[in-house]
Amino acid sequence: MTADQYPHVLEPAPGIIACLGYNGRGVAMSTAMGGQIARRISSESAPFDLPIVPLKTIAFHRLWPFAVRAAIARSRSATRWGCNEHAGRSPAVVGGHAL
Ligand SMILES: Cc1cc2nc3c(=O)[nH]c(=O)nc-3n(C[C@H](O)[C@H](O)[C@H](O)COP(=O)(O)OP(=O)(O)OC[C@H]3O[C@@H](n4cnc5c(N)ncnc54)[C@H](O)[C@@H]3O)c2cc1C
Repeated sequence: MTADQYPHVLEPAPGIIACLGYNGRGVAMSTAMGGQIARRISSESAPFDLPIVPLKTIAFHRLWPFAVRAAIARSRSATRWGCNEHAGRSPAVVGGHAL
């Protein structure tokens, strides 16, 4: 997963290319990126469809288990006390995101 929800293309050292972070669409995306890497290997000037970006860590990423537990607890208590803003709505439209 990536914070911007796009796959990332990295070049950690000259001649080494890494494509990652397909955000749930890896089967199709990794196949497409494989084609791009092959093109780059055969011609160094061949452009990538995505920019090559520096490797960055996600701030506070080590805290994700606590954040997920807190969000679940918050949602459960909101449901228990009848103040869940999502109650009665189709999960498919909550927050505009497909769930
Ligand atoms: C549980 C699970 C469910 C998923 N479900 C979906 C889904 O429903 N839809 C979807 O689009 N994507 C899904 N994905 C993601 C998708 O499978 C991956 O994004 C995709 O396979 C990545 O392809 P890849 O070629 O980059 O890496 P991989 O498929 O991981 O291939 C890397 C290959 O390199 C080999 N390798 C590693 N190191 C070395 C080495 N040093 N020397 C030689 N060989 C090496 C590995 O053995 C492996 O065969 C899922 C992933 C997982 C784990």
